[in-house]
Order: sequence, then structure tokens, then C-alpha cells
Amino acid sequence: MKDLGPRYDFHIHSIFSDGNLLPAAIAREAEVRGHSAIAITDHVDASNIEDVIKAITKFVKEQGPTLPIKVIPGVEISYLRPDLIKEYAKKARKLGAKLIVVHGESPVEPVIPGTNHATVQLKGLVDILAHPGKNLTEEDTRTAKENGIYLELTSRRGHKEGNKHVAEIARKVGAKLIVNTDSHNETELLSQEQAYQVALEAGLSEEEAIATVKDNPSELLIRVGSTQI
Ligand SMILES: [Zn+2]
Ligand SMILES: [Zn+2]
Repeated sequence: MKDLGPRYDFHIHSIFSDGNLLPAAIAREAEVRGHSAIAITDHVDASNIEDVIKAITKFVKEQGPTLPIKVIPGVEISYLRPDLIKEYAKKARKLGAKLIVVHGESPVEPVIPGTNHATVQLKGLVDILAHPGKNLTEEDTRTAKENGIYLELTSRRGHKEGNKHVAEIARKVGAKLIVNTDSHNETELLSQEQAYQVALEAGLSEEEAIATVKDNPSELLIRVGSTQI
């Protein structure tokens, strides 16, 4: 039997943007579904970046040590003009975000064209390009690979319509994929087996799907300095 390891999910929303749970509730819901680590990555722009990071880092600092799973304070930079993403990613890091997701060019939302291209340049600043969609180019996929930026396969309705394209181009180029849920409530969290199925449904082989749900998130977890689970 294949060993899929524990579940990690690096893209989850709380009440600090448009999710419906507090971080403590998300952590518990994730724990009972077999997660070892989660990142809480609320939508940010200029209006709320300070407040969101302050709230989530306060939670992690005060309550994190009492929890059985690791909670990583993150953000999802959303709908910024592409030339501003770098400035806000730097700002998020400075304010204490340990994991930075950028809201990519989903097939079902009018994300500004050029968002994928601007994001994959940001080596060392951005960790994950979320739901890059059908606009993802081979050139940008190569850049993501070179710059250590993970490309997201998602279980979220609508956004997931881009999964097959993202998987196809990533496997061709050798870029690294990850499966996140983009959960806005507890019912959207996935077990590790369900996450593996998302990777297979995107067109990956069993071996590639295991790398996507097990090896890649473990690596990313080490990168964000959260190895002490
Ligand atoms: Zn998003
Ligand atoms: Zn999201």
C-alpha cells in the first residue's frame, strides 16, 4: 500500500478575509482530518495587509505552541496590479508572513493578465502561485521552476478547471506542483487520500501525484522554517 504521509494544506482562508472560521477552529478541523501543518493565507491588499498579518501572527505566537498541528502565518496577495506584487510580497515578509501565496489567473475570475508572469519572477519572496489557470505559459512555468515557486493544483470549484493544463505543462517542464484546497470553511478541507485523487484527476501519474502531495509540501514546510512538528 502506498504511503501518502500526513496532509499539509498551504492555502486556507479564515474570517480575517472571506473564510468563515477563526484560526483555532480551522486548526482543529484540520487536525481531525489528518493534517500535520496548515498555512492560513487570507486575501490581502493595501487595505488590510497590516491587520491580517498582525492577527494571524498573534494567534500563531500565543496559541500555536498549544496546538497539535503546525500553523503557518501566511497571506494570499490578491488582485494587485502585477507591478505592485513585489512591493507587497516584501511588505508581507517584513510584517511576519512566513508563506506567501499569490492569487493567480484563475479561469473563473478576472485576475489581471500578467499576474502569473510577475509572480514567477519573485524568487525568495513568493512560495506558491495559486490556481494559475489556463493562461499559464511554458515560459512562466520554467521561470517558476528556476525560482523555486510551487504551482498549485486546487480542489476549489471553478479554479480547478485549470488543473489539467497546469499539471500538463508542469510535468513537461519539471516544475513542482502542490495540492491545496483554498478552503473557506471546514467542509472544503481534504484528507490526504482526497488530495492524492485531485493530483491524479489533473493527469499526473501515481509517482508524480505522490511527489505532489507528499514530497513537495514536506520540502516547502522545511523552507518556511516549520520543521519542529
Ligand atoms: Zn486565490
Ligand atoms: Zn484563496
